[in-house]
Amino acid sequence: MTSTGAGRFAPSPSADLHIGNLRTAVLAWLFARSTGRRFLMRVEDLDDRTFTDIAERQLADLAAIGITWDGPATRQTEHAQRYNAVVDTLREQGLLFECFCTRRDIAQAPRAPHAPEGAYPGTCRDLTDAERESRREETGRPPALRLRTDVTKYTVHDILHGDYTGLVDDFVVRRGDGVVAYNLAVVVDDAASGVDQVVRGDDLLPSSPRQAYLAQLLGHPEPVYAHVPLVLNDEGARLAKRDGAVTLTEIGVPEAMAQIADSLGYRARSVEQMLDEFDPARLPSAPWVYRPG
Ligand code: GLU
Repeated sequence: MTSTGAGRFAPSPSADLHIGNLRTAVLAWLFARSTGRRFLMRVEDLDDRTFTDIAERQLADLAAIGITWDGPATRQTEHAQRYNAVVDTLREQGLLFECFCTRRDIAQAPRAPHAPEGAYPGTCRDLTDAERESRREETGRPPALRLRTDVTKYTVHDILHGDYTGLVDDFVVRRGDGVVAYNLAVVVDDAASGVDQVVRGDDLLPSSPRQAYLAQLLGHPEPVYAHVPLVLNDEGARLAKRDGAVTLTEIGVPEAMAQIADSLGYRARSVEQMLDEFDPARLPSAPWVYRPG
């Protein structure tokens, strides 16, 4: 099977990858390669731009477990022009508004009786020019930019979760400090690099309606989504460094591959061999509980 599209893995270089992240990368690679797609690597360093050594270790670990990618790994910090162009376009279309709210303002704002939990309450959406000017003076800091959305929810289709409907509020596309927001960067990067298949941890499923909404607004097709179960520790919390030996350096390649393959129900011990057996329909839907040895 061949395709002109691409899948990708997009690690944030905030810490070494743990076995759960590696398993997600293996799945993203299997989904892409089994459908004839290219596989791209993107370092999501907008928030962690100083941690280049972590990014290098992440890429080395991915290569060590047999993950291959097409072309060099890219970095979000190289894409500022691409993001700014999209922000400009949205602004010209009247689809952005300046927001002066702090997190606290948002938490304390009065809400409409049926406003969805966690949604931006609309405080700055319809400010007059004079109000905006006075907010700017009061706060003394540059505003964030939010998208003026015309829906409150949006439905995406996910291979593993079926139809998923989630909140779409007037979300931030550029923060007050000038850095573009994750939701915008992901959509713009995926579209610019031909990514049409997004496989990632299911902690990001609730972000996908916002991203898919923005993608269609920008005229991009919705990617195929597969949000895969996270790896948990034996207390049911998300696996983390403090749980013990969880990184590739600590576990070792053969043991890590054995663990990942077992968790997916494969006898294979390499990603190439897993590819021969890969069947998305057979993926376990429950989280994988990992007990560091
Ligand atoms: N950078 C995100 C993470 O490491 C993943 C983003 C994505 O796959 O869309 O959790």
